[in-house]
Amino acid sequence: MGIYPIITLKRGRERSVLHKHPWVFSGAVYQCEPAADGDIVTVKDINDNVLGYGFYAPHSQIIVKMFEFSAVYTDYYSVDYWQKKIYNALQLRNTYVINDQTNTYRLIHAEGDGMPGVIADVYAGTVVLNLLTKGVENICSQLTEALANLGFNNIYLKVKGISHEKEKIVSESAWLKGKSEMPVMAKENVLKFWIDIEKGQKTGFFIDQREHRRMLQMLCKGKTVLNTFSYTGGFSVYAIQGEAASVVSVDISKDAIQKCEENIALNFTNHSHHIAIAEDCFEYLKKCDTKYDIVILDPPAFAKNARSVPNACRGYKELNMLGIKACNAKGLIFTFSCSQNIDKRLFQQIVFSAAADVGRHVRIIAHLCQPADHPVNIYHPESEYLKGLLLYVD
Ligand code: SAH
Repeated sequence: MGIYPIITLKRGRERSVLHKHPWVFSGAVYQCEPAADGDIVTVKDINDNVLGYGFYAPHSQIIVKMFEFSAVYTDYYSVDYWQKKIYNALQLRNTYVINDQTNTYRLIHAEGDGMPGVIADVYAGTVVLNLLTKGVENICSQLTEALANLGFNNIYLKVKGISHEKEKIVSESAWLKGKSEMPVMAKENVLKFWIDIEKGQKTGFFIDQREHRRMLQMLCKGKTVLNTFSYTGGFSVYAIQGEAASVVSVDISKDAIQKCEENIALNFTNHSHHIAIAEDCFEYLKKCDTKYDIVILDPPAFAKNARSVPNACRGYKELNMLGIKACNAKGLIFTFSCSQNIDKRLFQQIVFSAAADVGRHVRIIAHLCQPADHPVNIYHPESEYLKGLLLYVD
């Protein structure tokens, strides 16, 4: 059992921790015992009361990410502790997400599941693990063993880019246990998708759009559909299933477009009313002289950090103006932002401003958000990242 170095907070700065907010900012710290990057630390208030435990990140503004809000002194490096948390997360998914039609789901959603830094997506039983901080990199073998104890025999660690350099993560992408044949064929609402977890973007698929794809399927019968930022065709496959009159998928990545065509072929023998175009969506929309009954705007996060918010707002506004222009009268637009730094109020203001500039009458008919397997910890509203609007355009 570890002896956890103690981080003492300044007077009054314990308040957010008492409210179970998992982030301790460096400005809140009164005193630190010597600790290494990623160590599990004890967090105390100025009166020596233990508030909980978390991962230490001395280089970061968020100096501790808490995973435990009790004074219980136990082995937080044990498999058992993490296995209970994962089991808890799995129960939510088993009850509300996984069924005989869907075996694609997010099993661990970081702070949303009380495990800051850990993302785990599951495709037909194969786990793709993303470890975003040094602290959780340190407990990789415990997480792997816990997942294996819960019945997951194929576990892939996917390490990606910039945040890993900042966090000084040294692990490389690799199979931690077992190995699945690539690509994996996963099921979402009966529909099948090839998922290349090793080479695909993120963990291989955008699981968070499952419910919105289903909404599209219900609404698109006989309609013409434009799916921009289509990636591997999630929305497009559902649109064909929903008997859309025609579907156009556009993505800048040739590889994504090829995978989109493969996914359509995997589900349908007749798909002559689908076309896939590898092109910049802004360029496509600017020269587009066709109008569509339903337009989907699901771009990547334009605001990767707080500094890029103003530029991102301009990007979202331009995209939504182009989308509204490309929409037929009495048509629908599914518009999204997955930028954590742009909250739902700001996003709605951006879409308002786009509608006003185009001069069309636009009504919000649904507010869209992330699904049950991407839970938002009520004490940590920052875990809410996906927001969207379903618009009716007169
Ligand atoms: N809607 C998709 C997920 C979109 S992810 C789904 O349901 O699976 C964002 C996608 O946007 C990626 O596939 C990326 O290749 C693409 N992309 C990024 N910039 C682009 C641009 N300027 N034009 C077209 N596609 C772009």
